Amino acid sequence: MATPVRIAAMVSAHSHAFQRDLRGVGERSDDDFWGWRGAMYALADALDPDGMYEVALRNYAAMRAAGYGTVGEFHYVHHNPDGTPYDEPNAMALAVARAARDAGLRIVLLPAAYARGGRPRFRDADVDTFLARVDALPEPHGVAAHSARAVPESWLREIAEYSEAKGIVRHVHASEQPRELEECQAEHGCSPIELLHRTGFLGPRASVVHGIHVSVRDIALLAETGTTVVSCPTTEGNLGDGFPPALAYRDAGVPLAIGTDENLVLDPFEEVRELETLARRERRTRHALLAHHGDLWAAVAQAGAASLGIGDPGTIEVDREHPRLAGVGDEDLPRALATCAGADVVLSPFTD
Ligand SMILES: [Zn+2]
Repeated sequence: MATPVRIAAMVSAHSHAFQRDLRGVGERSDDDFWGWRGAMYALADALDPDGMYEVALRNYAAMRAAGYGTVGEFHYVHHNPDGTPYDEPNAMALAVARAARDAGLRIVLLPAAYARGGRPRFRDADVDTFLARVDALPEPHGVAAHSARAVPESWLREIAEYSEAKGIVRHVHASEQPRELEECQAEHGCSPIELLHRTGFLGPRASVVHGIHVSVRDIALLAETGTTVVSCPTTEGNLGDGFPPALAYRDAGVPLAIGTDENLVLDPFEEVRELETLARRERRTRHALLAHHGDLWAAVAQAGAASLGIGDPGTIEVDREHPRLAGVGDEDLPRALATCAGADVVLSPFTD
C-alpha cells in the first residue's frame, strides 16, 4: 500500500533541454570538456524549432516524473544555423516554453546573450538586439549572459542594469573550468567572479552557475552581494569539471541551488545526495549541508525557487512505503530524502 507524503517539488535552476540527446554519444569524446563541447555544438546545429520542441518535451516530461516542478531553461540556441534570425525571432525560445507547458512543468526562460565564440546561431551582433528579443518574451522569464568568455564586459553591465530595471533574475555560467579562469585573467586581469562583481552583475537577483574554481575572495564577493550559486552535481561530475566548495559557501551564507544542466541524469534526489556527499568528502566530515539545514531537500528547493524569482516551488507526493523509505521514522524522513531516496519514490508529480 502506497502512503503518500507531501514534500516540496524540486527546482532545476539550470537546464539546457536539448542536451538530453547527448546521452551516450557525448561520451565518445573522452578527452576533456572542450572535446565534449564539439559534440554539443553538432547537436545544437541540427535543431529547428520543431526539433527543439520535441527534445524539450521529452526532457521536461522525464524531469516532472522525477520530482521536479520548475525548470530554469538557460537558452542560447536562438537563430537559424547560419545566424540569421527566424521570422519570429523568439521561435526557439517559444518552442521550449510550449514544451514545458505541454509537459506540465513550470518554466522560467533564461535567454542567454552570446557575443563571440560558440556557433553563429547562438550569437547576437549587439546587446540591444538581444534585449529587445528578451523584452518580447511572455512572462515569467529572466535574462542571462552565457559566460564571461562569451560576452564582453559592457554586455555584463547592460544585462545587469536591464535585470534591475525590469525586476527579473539574471544568470551566468562562471568558474566551471580552469582554462576559463586563465582566459579571464589574460583579458580582464581578474577572476570571472571579480569581473561579475565589478560590472554590477552579482546581487540578490543574480545566480552564478557552477562556481567551482573560486578563491576565498570570490566566495566573499558572492556572499556579500547575496548571489546564489547553482551547482549541477551530476553534470559537473560527467564533464570532469570538479565540484564547488559547498562548505565554504555554507559558512559564508551563499545559498546553493541545483541544476540538471546537460540533463543526462534526471533524478533530483541523486543531485541533492551528490551535493551532500561531495561536501562530506571535501572536508571528510559528516557535519555538512544536511546537518546545517536539517531539511536539505527543502532548502535546495527554496534556493532554486529564489534563484528563478518564483515564491513557492510547489509540491509533489512521495511514497512513504517505498522500499527506499519504508521503516524510516517520521522525524528522520527529511534526512532520508537527502541521503537514500531516488526518483522512484515519487508517487504524484508536480501539478501547477
Ligand atoms: Zn550550463
